[in-house]
Amino acid sequence: MRLQVKTGKKVHIPILTEEGALSKVGEICLGLGITGGALVVSDPIVIKVTEDKISNSLKESGIDHSFKLIERATKFAVDQVREEARKLKSRVILGVGGGGVIDVSKLSASQENIPFISVPTAASHDGIASPRAKINHIAPFSIEANSPIAIIADIDIISKAPYRLTASGCGDLIAKLTSVKDWELAHLRKNERFDKQAATMAKESGEYLVRNAKLVRDKTKKGYQLVVEGLIKSGIAMALAGSSRPSSGAEHMFSHKLDQIAPNSAYHGEQCGIGTIIMMYLHDGDWKTIVDTLKTVGAPTTAKDIHVDSEIIIKAICGAKEIRSDRYTILDEKKINPKLAEEAATVTGVI
Ligand SMILES: [Zn+2]
Repeated sequence: MRLQVKTGKKVHIPILTEEGALSKVGEICLGLGITGGALVVSDPIVIKVTEDKISNSLKESGIDHSFKLIERATKFAVDQVREEARKLKSRVILGVGGGGVIDVSKLSASQENIPFISVPTAASHDGIASPRAKINHIAPFSIEANSPIAIIADIDIISKAPYRLTASGCGDLIAKLTSVKDWELAHLRKNERFDKQAATMAKESGEYLVRNAKLVRDKTKKGYQLVVEGLIKSGIAMALAGSSRPSSGAEHMFSHKLDQIAPNSAYHGEQCGIGTIIMMYLHDGDWKTIVDTLKTVGAPTTAKDIHVDSEIIIKAICGAKEIRSDRYTILDEKKINPKLAEEAATVTGVI
């Protein structure tokens, strides 16, 4: 399946979400006018299942390329990739991997002012298509970067990634149901700029997951496609809005706060999924459907599932606001306090 979508700058970018898409990497590069100097960034595990396919495709198209492996998404990794790109005079960076590799590649390319091609190997979060990157030790939330000029998602590869990553992607997708509510609230109360098209795009990708969760649970190709395309749409919604607003509300602040007070407890999307249950309760919305959907796809719904204590959850709900005090959300509306946080987490069964 090939989608052509508009970005904020009204240019079309090629988006491929199909089985065997990796064999078209060279063709896509040529179509974008890239004839050489490709730096392929990946990690030591992913490279084992992707190197031959990518190398063959680039060779067939006559594109010279090099590989750079990184271990973790750190500022050090960004510095290393930038140095390699400068040394090789790279003309494009391809990020081949999960969220960390995508974020490092995207930020490195942005800072070196060269284009970035997103090649996700797992459907774990919406950084796949967004103009944002989150690198620990740079900022507690995602920072601005350039959008990819192409997205190549090979469903064969994505379906072979550990299933927990896909379930985590579902948590990041369902988060759009509360992030859009927060944005609407900020528009109503603070007259914040609101982009209907971006909001609809983000919200629909969350709703589509709710309606089709069983396809994901059953590990069907359609299910994987649904998650990856939803995450891509959510990323494009951010590009359209010119901010992370459509896709990141109080549920994301909760996840970012958890990263600070209980680092490495769970994946980003898993934490966002739990945050969505709580924020939907605070919005007086249908939080039970959020719980049911997350349970159907096998994503965590309780503090116990992600191995954190109840007090940590309450602290993360109350402290979430500190992540972005400039952003009006349901936490401001309801004047969050420990008593209310405990009520929300208890009634919803999170603690
Ligand atoms: Zn996210």
